[in-house]
Amino acid sequence: MCDLAPGEATRYVGDDPMRVIVDQDLCEGNAVCQHHAPEIFSVGDDDKARVLIEHPDETLRAKAELAVKRCPRAAIRIVED
Ligand code: SF4
Repeated sequence: MCDLAPGEATRYVGDDPMRVIVDQDLCEGNAVCQHHAPEIFSVGDDDKARVLIEHPDETLRAKAELAVKRCPRAAIRIVED
């Protein structure tokens, strides 16, 4: 279950995949992103989220976008390179 707009999770952006960015200054290490998208995010011992896959493929878009929406610090961005 997710709250993405219809069609949003399957949107294709061509050959250039999305890029996932975590603002380390905003991140508070609560691991919400890791919970929703463990393929993409991992929280380190320093309580900061790391991006494991900077350019996830489209199959992970829904999870990445859910992490963006659920991050309580608005620390995650998806950039279309
Ligand atoms: S959900 Fe946001 S604040 Fe929490 S660990 Fe992930 S990036 Fe950091």
